[in-house]
Amino acid sequence: GLSTSERIAQAERWAAHNYHPLPVVIESAEGAWVTDVDGRRYLDFLAAYSAVNFGHRHPALTAAAHAQLDRLTLTSRAFGSAPFGPFVEAVARLAGKQMVLPMNTGAEAVESAIKISRKWGYDVKGVPADAATIVVAHGNFHGRTTTIVSFSDDPVATTGFGPFTPGFRLVPYGDAAAIEAAIDETTVAVLLEPIQGEAGVIIPPPSYLPEVRAITAARNVLLIADEIQSGLGRTGATFACDLVGVVPDLYLLGKALGGGIVPVSAVVGDREVLGVLHPGEHGSTFGGNPVAAAVGTAVVDLLETGEMQQRAKTMGEVLDARLQRLVGNGVTAVRAVGLWAGVDIDPALGTARQVCERLMARGVLAKDTHGHTVRFAPPLIVTEAELDLALTAFEESLRG
Ligand code: PLP
Repeated sequence: GLSTSERIAQAERWAAHNYHPLPVVIESAEGAWVTDVDGRRYLDFLAAYSAVNFGHRHPALTAAAHAQLDRLTLTSRAFGSAPFGPFVEAVARLAGKQMVLPMNTGAEAVESAIKISRKWGYDVKGVPADAATIVVAHGNFHGRTTTIVSFSDDPVATTGFGPFTPGFRLVPYGDAAAIEAAIDETTVAVLLEPIQGEAGVIIPPPSYLPEVRAITAARNVLLIADEIQSGLGRTGATFACDLVGVVPDLYLLGKALGGGIVPVSAVVGDREVLGVLHPGEHGSTFGGNPVAAAVGTAVVDLLETGEMQQRAKTMGEVLDARLQRLVGNGVTAVRAVGLWAGVDIDPALGTARQVCERLMARGVLAKDTHGHTVRFAPPLIVTEAELDLALTAFEESLRG
């Protein structure tokens, strides 16, 4: 077969350069481990940006996918499919909501929620036509479509991609008063990540989401929680909103909902909101397809026992304790919740990218975000021994 460097050169030559991957080419994986084309093994401490929360090729998930592949793979929503009803019921029940809109990618779930909340604004709230506004936060990451980058404040995400979609108001993250001040009679929704992932695992003050919930309820504004990265076990709870006792009007789910096998996303809410969509007004050829539905249902089954959430919580305490020891020793700050951590690297030691490269040489894969932060998000099935291995490698990587 081709060598690692030949494969990297091939990808460089033929793929668009919209990513800067670590110089590793993975061939197979199981649980928390991946193996590259040269047979080297690594612990996966990114887990595909939390899409592989339950580990690579979790047997219950691959079994659901295989069984479905042998029966039915695609009907489109023009017809019903046998796995569809069980899937939407399972996701709705998991979230304690009445309805589910299945889509494929996270960005599509966000786009769908923008459309739904605008339509809710016009049909239910009585906002004048085409005047709807949505409040969003500085540092947000909700995806890469033209409308979603329209309300990003990251110049790398926006520069060169205008003109932008109007109707969004940016306020500081973690500041409920700023949200209150940004709301007026045109406001249909506040769209937030309960914990900001791509920004570097930014955890707001514990009072923030409850205050935003109270404000949005009082002002007749929908609260949309983008739980695409934070949800489905990562933080030690089913939803990051659960950690502070908040129930949003809409949950946006993605990534781990597809079990690391297929792209599956969803908008989840009550009939009063999702009921504004009527036949023909929104759709997706692949949304809710039989393989997605079968895997998504198996994902909900895994989450229903609470075991994954519990593992994230207990292993997360181990991760946090080990990382906090490093503050002042090559690390300037650690923000951790469940099995999710943003670790700011002392610039004197190099960039986060350089630390990730040194970590890779020691058999652990993680990815930098925003230059100086290393994000850790291992699969929730990671063992304490594996955490120990990875953290020892990280400590060595800080030393150079
Ligand atoms: N929302 C959040 C919070 C995310 O972290 C991401 C992806 O990183 C997205 C939305 C976009 O998801 P996708 O890449 O599947 O479009």
